[in-house]
Parts: sequence; structure tokens; C-alpha cells
Amino acid sequence: MSAGWLRACALVLIGLFSVSALAKDKQSTAIVVGGGLAGLTAAYELQNKGWQVTLLEAKPDMGGRSGLAASEWIGNSKAQPVLNSYLDAFKLSTLPAPEFVRVPSYLIDGEYFTAADLATKQPATAEALKRYEKTLDELAASISDPENPAANSTLFALDQINVSNWLDKLQLPTTARQLVNQQIRTRYDEPSRLSLLYFAQQTRVYRGVSDRDLRAARLPGGSPVLAQAFVKQLKTIKTSSPVSAITQDKDGVTVSVGTVSYKADYVVLAVPLRALNKIQLTPSLDTLHLNAIKGTNYGWRDQLMLKFSNPVWDSKARLSGEIYSNTGLGMLWIEPAIKGGANVIINLSGDNARLLQTFGDKQMADQVLIRLHAFYPKARGAFTGYEIRRYSTDPGTGGAYLAFGPGQISKYWRLWERPVQRVVFAGEHTDALYPGTLEGALRSGQRAASQVQGLSAGKSFDPVSAAPVAAAAAVAAKESKGGFFSNLFGGSDKAASKPVEKVAEVPAQPVPAPVAPVAAPVIAPAPVAAPQAKVEPVKTAPVKKAPAKAQPAKKPVAKAEAVKKPAAQAKPAPAKEQAAKKPAAKPATVADAKS
Ligand SMILES: Cc1cc2nc3c(=O)[nH]c(=O)nc-3n(C[C@H](O)[C@H](O)[C@H](O)COP(=O)(O)OP(=O)(O)OC[C@H]3O[C@@H](n4cnc5c(N)ncnc54)[C@H](O)[C@@H]3O)c2cc1C
Repeated sequence: MSAGWLRACALVLIGLFSVSALAKDKQSTAIVVGGGLAGLTAAYELQNKGWQVTLLEAKPDMGGRSGLAASEWIGNSKAQPVLNSYLDAFKLSTLPAPEFVRVPSYLIDGEYFTAADLATKQPATAEALKRYEKTLDELAASISDPENPAANSTLFALDQINVSNWLDKLQLPTTARQLVNQQIRTRYDEPSRLSLLYFAQQTRVYRGVSDRDLRAARLPGGSPVLAQAFVKQLKTIKTSSPVSAITQDKDGVTVSVGTVSYKADYVVLAVPLRALNKIQLTPSLDTLHLNAIKGTNYGWRDQLMLKFSNPVWDSKARLSGEIYSNTGLGMLWIEPAIKGGANVIINLSGDNARLLQTFGDKQMADQVLIRLHAFYPKARGAFTGYEIRRYSTDPGTGGAYLAFGPGQISKYWRLWERPVQRVVFAGEHTDALYPGTLEGALRSGQRAASQVQGLSAGKSFDPVSAAPVAAAAAVAAKESKGGFFSNLFGGSDKAASKPVEKVAEVPAQPVPAPVAPVAAPVIAPAPVAAPQAKVEPVKTAPVKKAPAKAQPAKKPVAKAEAVKKPAAQAKPAPAKEQAAKKPAAKPATVADAKS
């Protein structure tokens, strides 16, 4: 062999070695779309794993959906373990919640009742509430695995029933039913729009977690403070960057914000379903995904904050907390202001929130102020302004949070936990156990980050396995004989023996109409004249008294600051830039989940 030939071989070997060393050294890249808590978590976790991450957020501010409350209630680590672990990691301290706010209370025809008051003053209502809770608990207990709630045909059948029909069977006295309706619409959505299986599954998730665990502490500054803690850790964030299109091929993804393109190995899509609908994906999602985007029910919940120069409710102080009214007025929060002033936050949920879309912001604030003033005569004088958050009509959310409607678990269960090639999904709506919460958003971000890591290591994510309904039918039939389910369905085994195929054919629920008929609208014509309000009277019984009496007040939420860091890592790529040279990870199996 000649020396020249040897030299040539050596050069080739050195060349090969350098290329492989370079490939090894190349930092993996990911783009996260959406700067809510899910996207922030995914970006943070990926960055910690050594990824080069660029976070693109449509709005000027980071943090996404977060309530108006400046001092949000936080569950303890039993109720919200992931949330608490991040609070610890970022050294964000919470304040223990006063004992009296840790359990819900009631406002019945304007009169305030603790649970104990109710037992002595309205025993029939208290008894009925207990009966409801016991029946619901039994229903929840029948789900052995909340990650697989439709494990047998009987449970599967619950997905075809709405919560309102189930409540009808309980024949609760009127006041108890009103309070139950209000609690359900506040936490999820209108009972008539909610899958009974979803309601039971969520109750199962929180079984053993008491109200006291759920409102164990308060986070001063609210969830925007947590969002800012994530923001501080991230190297590359681009606000005011609404993503319009994502194209993926075997080598990577190209993410477009108008005419600007970004390239990366993977993308995490951490936006709510209605926002996802506005992003053009190439190749397109399959029909199941597209149907889920359009059809999955979101609960409606808007928040109105009335601000006062000082607490006007001192004399009749009703202590702050979760208060359910039987008159359709949503859950109330009356909280001490952190820096002077006093705020009242009123949550308007379900069909009440849908109805209120016909009111302008000012009209809505006026109408609620009128009622507050009737109860606390200093209210109007101390009133300094209001803020309204209408999540329900925000095109970026299209609702407050996921709340599966009838038939939707059967079709879409854990659909968004499966990556579609190089696209991984995150967001509260993708979490099986804690949708609609901060906990769910954070968990989904963690899951998405580890999926991206897994994909890059060549892992494939198979469809989440669920017990085949047909195989479980025999078990269900056994369970249903003369037992709990028979009672649930009025002594018949109809649901258990219903053919599974038929159940699976129930069509997706249509996206809720912007304004739906309601049983007990929030705002009734007021006796006190509002200065500016020109409100069409709503045909219902007037709210008899004003909202709850409360504690000292609190300050408005400080808006999360817009973050505009220079794009140190992922740089805008020219539109026709070559795709990144990283070898394609094995594409994940796209589930064709036809339940
Ligand atoms: C009124 C209300 C009260 C709540 N109360 C509580 C509570 O007490 N406790 C609790 O645990 N949870 C509560 N939640 C739920 C909790 O706030 C949410 O589950 C959580 O904030 C959702 O986070 P996310 O990251 O999934 O979505 P989001 O916060 O919605 O984040 C999505 C982000 O994506 C951005 N985006 C959308 N489209 C694009 C695009 N094309 N390009 C780039 N960015 C885009 C949006 O601007 C947004 O910032 C409440 C929610 C509401 C609405």
C-alpha cells in the first residue's frame, strides 16, 4: 500500500471522526409555542436538559390565562404536588390560608351560611347536600383508575349522560339543587353541558383531598408571580409573536410568525385548542384531532373585579372565601388588598357567563355594583374602577378551560398526550388528571419536555392504552347487578347492558353557542339606578341581596411584564433555509384512536 493511499485513508477517517463529533456536540433545539404555565414549564425543563429553547408567545405579556386574584388560593402538596414543588424550587413563599376560608360557604337568598349554619337553620338543604355528596362519592369510587375512566362499558356509558340529567334523578330540593348547580358550573361548566363520566373522574381524582387541602394557602401576587419566576430562568423568549404556521419534515420543524421563520428539531405546542385551530399545520392533523379541536367543550368562566378605595363591607364582614349563591351569582372572593384599596372578585360561570356576553363591560360592572351598593351603602362612594376578564370570548382560549361534554371522553381521551411526529402538545387540556388547573398545565409541560427528549432519543410514543370496553363488559355487567349502578339508573341495568357500539357513535357535542338559554341569570333588573347602565332587563327573579360580606381588600393583579430578550439562540431563519442536519428521530406513532 502506498504512503499516499495510507494518507488518504487517514484523512477520510479523521474527517468521519470530526463529523460524528460535531453531530454529537450539536445542541438539540426546540421551539415552544405559548407562554402560559404549560409552555413555560416545557421550555424550562428542556433548557435544564441542555436544549436550546426559543419560546414564542402571541401576546405582549407572559403567563397566559391566570385569574385576576392578586393573592391566589393554592392547594397544599397533597392537592397540587407539582405546583408546590415549583414554588419551593423558585423560593416563592405562600401565606397559610385562614381556617375559615378553607371550606366553602353559601349565600342563600342573600343570607350567608357556613356549612354548620346550614345544618341548623336549613336542615333540609344540608341533608340534601350531604346526600348529593355521598352519591357523587360512590360514583367516583366506582372508577378504579382515573387515568382510564371508561374502563368498562358501564363507566363508558356515563360519558353519554350529562350531569344535569343525573342530578334530576337525585330529586334534590330546589335550594340544594341551585347550590349544587352553582358549585358545578363554577368548577367546570353548566351541569347540562358536562359529561357525567368527566365529573365523576374529576371527583375521583380529588377523592381524599379535602377542601382544606385545596385552599391551604395563598400565593401573594397570584400565578403571574410563578410565571415570572419561570421567565427569569429562560434564555430566549419572544413576545408579541403569534405563530401562524408549523411545517414539519423528517429533519425538523419550521415555525412561522408571519413572514419570519424559526427552525428547530422539535416543537411543543402549548396553546389552548381554539388557538391551535388558528395555526396551520403541515402535514395537517387527522380528522380526529381536527374534530377534537372544534368540538371539545370548554367551561365558561369570566371574572369581574370591583375596586374600592377601602373595604366597604366591614360592618357586616363576611370573611373571604369560596361562596356559592343560589341566585346565580358566581363564586365570590373578597380579599384583603396587598397595597391599600379593596377588591371584590366575582366569578361568573357556565350559562350565566354565556348570557353576560350580551352585556358591555361597563354595564356588567354597573349591574353588580348596584347590588353590592344595596347591601353595603358605602359601596358606590368608595368605588374606584373595575377590571373584567372574559376568557370565554377570548379567541385565544374560547373558554376558561377544558370541561369534557357528553360523549367526548369516549372520543378524545388522552388524544393530546401523543406526539404527532415532531410536534408535542402541552397545556391544561392535555392533562388527564388535572385539566383546568395550574397543576395540569405544569404537569403537561413536564410531560411534553420529557417526550421531546424521548423522541430525540428515538423513542416512539404509542397510543395510551385503555382497557378495551368490550373486554370489560362482562365485569361491568357483574358490577351492575343490583348494585350501585342499578340504583344510579333508577333500578334498571339498562346502561350496563347498552351495546357498546351504539354508545361509541354518539356525535361530538357542538361548540357551545355564544349565548345559551339560562335558568338563573346573574344579573337581574336592579332597583337602584345605575348612572350609565342601559341594560335590557333579564327575565328572572331579581337577586335579592347583594353579594357576600367580606374582609378587607386587596390590590389588583400586577400584570406580568412583557419579556423581550434578544434571540440569542434560535435565530429567525430565512424562509428557504435548509432544514437542520440532525438525523430524524423515529416518528412517533400517530394514534388513530377511534373509540
Ligand atoms: C377564570 C379562571 C380562573 C382559574 N382559577 C384557577 C385556580 O384557582 N386554580 C387553578 O389551579 N387553576 C385555575 N385556572 C386554570 C389555570 O389558570 C389554567 O389551567 C392555566 O393557566 C392554563 O395554562 P396553559 O399554559 O395550559 O394555557 P394558557 O395559560 O392559556 O397559555 C397559552 C398561551 O399560548 C398563547 N398563544 C395562543 N396562541 C398562540 C399562538 N398562535 N402563538 C403563540 N402563542 C400563542 C396564549 O397567548 C397564552 O399565553 C383558572 C382559569 C381561569 C380562566
